[in-house]
Amino acid sequence: MEAGEDCCVKVAVHVRPLINDEKLQGCKDCVTVVSGKPQVQIGAHSFTFDHVYGSNGSPSSAMFDECVASLVGGLFQGYNATVLAYGQTGSGKTYTMGTGSKDYYQTGIVPQVMSALFSKIETLKHQIEFQLHVSFIEILKEEVRDLLDPSSMNKSDTTNGHAGKVTIPGKPPIQIREASNGVITLAGSTEVSVATLKEMSACLEQGSLSRATGSTNMNNQSSRSHAIFTITLEQMRKPNSPSENGLNDTMNEEYLCAKLHLVDLAGSERAKRTGSDGLRFKEGIHINKGLLALGNVISALGDEKKRKEGVHVPYRDSKLTRLLQDSLGGNSRTVMIACISPADINAEETLNTLKYANRAR
Ligand code: ADP
Ligand code: MG
Repeated sequence: MEAGEDCCVKVAVHVRPLINDEKLQGCKDCVTVVSGKPQVQIGAHSFTFDHVYGSNGSPSSAMFDECVASLVGGLFQGYNATVLAYGQTGSGKTYTMGTGSKDYYQTGIVPQVMSALFSKIETLKHQIEFQLHVSFIEILKEEVRDLLDPSSMNKSDTTNGHAGKVTIPGKPPIQIREASNGVITLAGSTEVSVATLKEMSACLEQGSLSRATGSTNMNNQSSRSHAIFTITLEQMRKPNSPSENGLNDTMNEEYLCAKLHLVDLAGSERAKRTGSDGLRFKEGIHINKGLLALGNVISALGDEKKRKEGVHVPYRDSKLTRLLQDSLGGNSRTVMIACISPADINAEETLNTLKYANRAR
């Protein structure tokens, strides 16, 4: 895909298999992947996407190859990119991204991104000097939390039993800033400089652990937070490196900087609030602000007619969209992976997810 090519958001669906828990409950599979087509059916509804990955068939590398590899390639040409995993809690977002426990690392998107990145660097390093940084943050209730903050590490079991996530008094909150050239930065978050795959994997692991530890102690908030692992790639042409002889065809500039956001979104289910009397009330349903804003941004971007008319893209409506602003739309590439459970008990949420994803196209 070349810059300027119109499709700015690609949408894939990942249908996980029934998990044991669902089998034990006697759930039936209610999602059909139409063979030979990127199409899914649920009840009377049928949806077509750019790609559909079912539980049987496609190897885990297919999703990376077809949806994400070109984004990694684009980074080397200076294009920002975003990969988003969307879906209800339990639908397989973390599994798909590979940002959870180590068990997910073999098949997940993020580990595959990291290996592809380092393989490519290996082939270019005699011509180009690379600098890589990673950050890993979480957005919960419109607040940004640093998952790589060294000062909140190793604080597992303090008096109140809340592991990690210790706010240091006086530490200013992380702020999303926009430079005059439109570049978004996160002021106050930890940026780790990494030189090897091993160092980068360590950051992924450390942040995933920090997220998990925080969540068990805080009512499983991880399902309500967005986790964003960001890789920033800086390239500087080495002096006297061949540039005119065809060897260096990847980089025409002296300096390039691009970033890739890998996002494990908050669960898309509508949180049912509990009333003071302990009864659930339906009208208390509210939707995560970031997901709502993201849906609006992506649908504004995806609508070519609107884009040509210069319709306002509502990036400012949430921290999530604000942070992703310079990596969604414009020259950047975006892939949304909608994750769904095939179980009939989840049919309503699955349909919501497919509708949301459909709006992104
Ligand atoms: P989420 O992050 O959306 O809440 P998880 O990624 O934690 O969901 O997945 C929920 C459960 O389903 C986990 O036990 C996970 O191992 C399992 N799972 C998810 N996707 C798959 C898949 N493609 N194949 C097998 N098991 C999966
Ligand atoms: Mg998860």
